[in-house]
Amino acid sequence: MSRQNWNRTSRLVQIGTGRDERTGAISFPIYPSATYRHPGVGQSTGYDYTRSNNPTREVLEQALADLEGGARGLAFSSGMAALTTLFLHFSSGDHLVVSQDLYGGTYRILDQVFNKFGLRSSYVDTTDSTAVAAAIRPETRALLVETPGNPLLGVADLKVLGELCREHEMLFIVDNTFLTPILQRPFEFGADIVVHSATKYLGGHSDLCAGVLVARDEDLGERLYFLQNSTGGILPPQDCWLLIRSLKTLPLRIERHCRTAMTIARWLQQHEKISAVYFPGLENHPGHSLSQRQASDFGGMLSFRTRTPEQARRVLERLQLISFAESLGGVESLMTLPAVQTHGDIPEQDRLRLGIDDCLLRLSVGLEEVEDLIADLDQALN
Ligand SMILES: *Cc1c(COP(=O)(O)O)cnc(C)c1O
Repeated sequence: MSRQNWNRTSRLVQIGTGRDERTGAISFPIYPSATYRHPGVGQSTGYDYTRSNNPTREVLEQALADLEGGARGLAFSSGMAALTTLFLHFSSGDHLVVSQDLYGGTYRILDQVFNKFGLRSSYVDTTDSTAVAAAIRPETRALLVETPGNPLLGVADLKVLGELCREHEMLFIVDNTFLTPILQRPFEFGADIVVHSATKYLGGHSDLCAGVLVARDEDLGERLYFLQNSTGGILPPQDCWLLIRSLKTLPLRIERHCRTAMTIARWLQQHEKISAVYFPGLENHPGHSLSQRQASDFGGMLSFRTRTPEQARRVLERLQLISFAESLGGVESLMTLPAVQTHGDIPEQDRLRLGIDDCLLRLSVGLEEVEDLIADLDQALN
């Protein structure tokens, strides 16, 4: 049975195994070499200079392309490095339509950096496909969607948006950080490019900063590779190795994240001190049935609202097992106050209009035992 016929879980476990032909190493080696000897003039071993190509990064990038089902994967030193490189694909005068329920750093770089160079963006509710269609202009080149959204977990219809992009000949870009390809495969819905902050679930242990782009076809992949090589925000070989190691357990981790998040969401929903829970797995979430259609489970992220800002602050101060910290997707549970932290750069009136206020808490459910997590939430709320 050849590698291509293996199930995805097996392919992930086997990333790089035995591929170092000289040694047969089970764990693919880290190649720190910055440069490589040429066998002769005009000849190459396939590796010349590490920014352009590196054996450890190559194993990782091929695995990432395989995991998403795209033609070309590229690994960057952070999610923002990946997004920066992606935005450099566009030109002055181009326009992007972007989810308003968006990672704060993506908003910041578009608003405060790329805007200066004439790349314009409109922020729309991408859970409303009509609003997306209305925002498209003649110069719109792409739609960038995060689904589920951040921090309110709104669900965008990937199929409808994919069709809309094709109709308008725009690139369809999906930031798949929250669900990962284990749960949601944007290329099946017509996406052209998938983005990840691999700092989150792909890395999964809060010990690595990395970003990923995967292109659906070779031509676009080649163009993005040109930009990666030109700008240089590559993932170093040591970190490539760490990310390879993390990917081997991704399906197992995601399964457990989902199961625990579901239990906690239901528990929070019946708690008298909580006025709302945002989790697509709950039947009363507006994106529940859409989420069931386009993803295989609901992920490990949820947000909830306390009745007063003081309660939210007290919860953060009293948590013992769950850490009050930014980021998400690690084995350790983390809670944040998005209004102050991850979304602090969004202007206050926009934030409040979206519902990101001082009562909103976001929880990244880790891999601790669910009863310990609930006990911690319970003591922090009471
Ligand atoms: C964290 C995050 C990013 C940015 O990635 P970094 O690795 O922190 O640079 C982009 N998109 C989403 C959805 C994120 O959660």
